[in-house]
Amino acid sequence: MSKFQETNFRGKKALIRVDFNVPLDENYNITDDTRMRATIPTIKKILSDGGSVILMSHLGRPKEGPTEKYSLKHLVKHLSELLGTDVQFANDCIGEEAVQKAASLKEGQVLLLENLRFYKQEEKGDKEFAEKLSKLGDVYVNDAFGTAHRAHASTAVIAQFFSPENRMFGLVMEGEVASAEKVLHGSEKPFTAIIGGAKVSDKILIIENLLERATDIIIGGGMAYTFFKAMGGQVGNSLVEQDRLETAKELMSKADAKGVCIHLPSDSVIADKFAADADVSSSLSNTIPDGWMGLDIGSMACDTFTKVIHNSKTILWNGPMGVFEMDKFQHGTKAIAKAVAEATENGAFSLVGGGDSVAAVNQFGFADRVSYVSTGGGAMLEYFEGKELPGIAAVK
Ligand code: AMP
Repeated sequence: MSKFQETNFRGKKALIRVDFNVPLDENYNITDDTRMRATIPTIKKILSDGGSVILMSHLGRPKEGPTEKYSLKHLVKHLSELLGTDVQFANDCIGEEAVQKAASLKEGQVLLLENLRFYKQEEKGDKEFAEKLSKLGDVYVNDAFGTAHRAHASTAVIAQFFSPENRMFGLVMEGEVASAEKVLHGSEKPFTAIIGGAKVSDKILIIENLLERATDIIIGGGMAYTFFKAMGGQVGNSLVEQDRLETAKELMSKADAKGVCIHLPSDSVIADKFAADADVSSSLSNTIPDGWMGLDIGSMACDTFTKVIHNSKTILWNGPMGVFEMDKFQHGTKAIAKAVAEATENGAFSLVGGGDSVAAVNQFGFADRVSYVSTGGGAMLEYFEGKELPGIAAVK
């Protein structure tokens, strides 16, 4: 059992850093409550032990202090419904009202604090601000994996004001860390990493770290064309990062030296413009005619990648295979989602992490058919780059 599960919160006030940074529409309705729902088991465990809960989070990127648009009060009603109990709200995350409301919380009660980022001190990692927050609870629980890569006041700095036995990760954080660890350090081979998305420059560090661990690396999406260009291919108007051609070459020779197999998409779906109504054709990825651009992996690539994925025991997927937001260019990403789901059904462990691939598995209905879908985009990416995340280090 983990520290969180072993702890009895009876009579304790747990100050939980959650990630309630959810999208809201113009009427302040929550359009995707995934992050809120993820934290419910952590909150319920504390309440059922006989503890009380103080929740703190950021929402959006308020620049000018308190702003209606970014107020966490818009979340109270939905949170109350999810928890089946009335949630109280403090109009400020520190100060008299927050102190009073936190102090008078009774067993089984929940208090949500106003947006932490209404104070610049939050993102600056201000020690005094962190100390003020820390006074609100007896125990600090970090359950915000999505911000674990930031050394902010509420995510990292605050931990020092609690003794080691009174600071811990919540269930979301534990789940994220356990599955990332399973992939990075306990992975059964063959271990295939599928890396897609727009740019090589965003993914260099993750590829370098995975070269130490993976047996196969599948590269798709816009970034593949920088690799083809680096090898002397013709990629037409496809996305190419000219200043990363050398990097692409280096990554390929490192992979070669380490015996890691890099799979590039042999063919592509090509388009005459970057638009949903573009004319579409197909081509080998290294002979794309001028005036055309690769916007998805082609059918041969789908077949080859599917075979590699089916043969894997561990799979990490970050980044889409094409411009999946447009119907004409989503086939490749769908095919890969299907292959990952099938491999999982056959016993592989699969983790999907990083913004757009998570959006894709949700959109295409495969989220329940993979082993783990990470809620932390940037944080998961940094984890796989091999960095120690400040939010994790501080609690440890
Ligand atoms: P990232 O955030 O780096 O994972 O990139 C995700 C974005 O890459 C998505 O918005 C995709 O539309 C885009 N993308 C994927 N494939 C391509 C491509 N072949 N050309 C241009 N953009 C792409």
